[in-house]
This record gives sequence, structure tokens and C-alpha cells, in this order.
Amino acid sequence: MSAPAQTDNSPLSGTMTAYRFVPGKTEPVRDTLPIPTPDADEVLVKVLAAGVCHSDVHLFMLSPIKPFHPHTYTLGHEGAGTVVCLGEKVAADPTLSQRFALGTYVAINPVNACQSPKCDSCSRGLENACYTFPKVGLNMDGSWADYVKVRPNAIVPVPGNDPQSPRLLPGVVAAATDAVLTPWHAIMKTGGIKPEDTLLIVGCGGLGLNAIQIAKRVLGVRTVIASDIREDSLALARESGADHAAAPTALRALFKEQKVRPDVVLDLVGKQETLDLAIALLRIGGKIVWVGLGDGTVTFRPLALGQKQISIQPSFGGDNASLEECLAAIAEGKLTPSVEERPMSDCAAVLHGLEKGEIRARVALIP
Ligand SMILES: [Zn+2]
Ligand SMILES: [Zn+2]
Repeated sequence: MSAPAQTDNSPLSGTMTAYRFVPGKTEPVRDTLPIPTPDADEVLVKVLAAGVCHSDVHLFMLSPIKPFHPHTYTLGHEGAGTVVCLGEKVAADPTLSQRFALGTYVAINPVNACQSPKCDSCSRGLENACYTFPKVGLNMDGSWADYVKVRPNAIVPVPGNDPQSPRLLPGVVAAATDAVLTPWHAIMKTGGIKPEDTLLIVGCGGLGLNAIQIAKRVLGVRTVIASDIREDSLALARESGADHAAAPTALRALFKEQKVRPDVVLDLVGKQETLDLAIALLRIGGKIVWVGLGDGTVTFRPLALGQKQISIQPSFGGDNASLEECLAAIAEGKLTPSVEERPMSDCAAVLHGLEKGEIRARVALIP
């Protein structure tokens, strides 16, 4: 059942609610703003769901001390919605106006790569590390609002593409843009992880549970061991497909019993303890794929890395091709990200819950 196609491309009038980052504040500030009018090279998206991420917690923890961002903007870097207005240039471009016709159900990639052939990142397959434009919801207006305007390079169509009877729920699509995309890109691209590897995944929160599914069900990694300090997260890790799950203190015994050593540690926590753990447990020549941003700074002894020939490969976000692959894998039923929906007005409470480690699934805010 599809809805009648939207044909009116006029800008929307009226106001909307937005939850904003304000430098120095420790919680999102609710504001009423005019519905944005897209610039010529932008589209306006009506938000259907927007994820909440640990990065949002970090923004507010640092805010009173030394804000990353000196200006006010609307939060929300994991968005899903429908295209409701095309800027002039987008409407005049036959390819873009067809790909993102009014009513198209889209996922918003916060990475917002420029995709210029002249870009040092984008021209070398490093779209995820393009900083030509700000990141959506991370220093420009994002999706914790009724509407968000973005460049077409920041959105990809959702398979099935019918927002009225979507195969993929908006909350799941929102989660796909970071909580699935980031581990997908790290596992399938940046990390160079191979099916024959023994993979230790450290951190079984929003990203970790998706990482386990990607490693087992998509890449087919032979042995996936998951670790978390929270006992109930270990149970979720087993349900997500981990071959073994154990607290960090129990890993050494587990490896001994299973007669394996990890070839790769996927660190989704990124703290001093997890770095030390990875260096201690990895086999000679092993690799740390670094995603988590838990500690601002970590230290290591070069000799410890050198003697074991350990390499560290960081990975950040993911490109649009990876996002389309994630959405396809979800549509095909290979990945089932667990997402809990909450009203958008709960955003501050969700941030506090994340900070205290009380939130297990990814939360998607519904405006
Ligand atoms: Zn995030
Ligand atoms: Zn670029």
C-alpha cells in the first residue's frame, strides 16, 4: 500500500520543536524554531526517528569544561525520515530528483562527505574521514527535531522505500546510520577482518551487539568472543551470536580452555583498560581495530606493541556505500538491531541512562 505521491515542492511554513546543544549546558535545550527551508543544494527531511549515542553523552560531559563545539545546534546524528522538499538545484538535477523524489524514505549519514574528486579523503575511499562539511547533528543541525535539512550526499534511500508500510522501522533505520554503520565499516572495510580470524569484541552495548551479528552472520567470522563488564550484556552477546562471552577478567582462562588467541580485537569501548587488555591478549602480529572513544587519552608502551608486532587501526563512522549495505542486510533479515523507541521529549533522560550504563538497546527518539 503506497501513499499518494507528494508533488508539491513548496517550502514548509510554521514552527517545529528541536532539542539543541548549547555550549556550557549539561542537558539538551528544548527550543521552538521555524521549519528550515532547504538551500538550493539541500533537501528537507521530515524526521521519523533519531538515535541517541554515547557521543551525545560525551558532548554534554565536556560541555561545561571545554565544549567541542562553540556554537548552538540541534542534536541528533542518527536520523531517518522522508524527503518533503527539494532545494532548487536538487529539483533541477534529473538524477538527484529521481533518487530523492518527494516522499522518499531515507537514512541520514552523519558523516556528510563532500564526495568531490578533488577531496583528499573522498578521492581515496576515505569518505568517512571527510571534514569539508560539518557532521550532521554533531556541529550542524541534526535530527532531534521535526525536520532537518541536509545535502543529498548525506542521505541514502532505504530499501523498500515506502514510509507508509516500511519494511524497516524508522528507529531501526536511525540506528543503522551509526550503531550499525560504524561497526560494519570497521569490520567489513577498515579493519580488514577475515572469516578465519578469531575476533574478540570488547564492549557489548549498542554497537557491540550489532558488531557480533555483522561478524557472525554477514562476514562469517569463525570464532567471535565477546566481552563486557556487565553480566546481562554477556547474555545479550550470546543471543546475538557470539560463540563465547565472558567478563574481561575471565578471558584469559577462556582462551586457554578454547586453545585460541585473538587475531583481532575490535575495541568498542576505547579506554586505557581495554587497550591494556587487547595488548595482553592478542596473539603475535595481532591487530586492534579501534572504534570506541571512551577515554580522551590513552598511553601505551611502544616496546609492548613492538615486541608483539601489534598494529592499531582506528575506524570512524562509515561511508554511504557501507550504509546502503547495512540497510540491505537489515532488510534481508541478516541483521536485527535491537532498538527501543522513546518520545523525543525523553532525550535528556535517555542521555542520563546511557551515562549510567543503564541502557542496553539503542534508543530511537520519535518526534
Ligand atoms: Zn554516534
Ligand atoms: Zn570529501
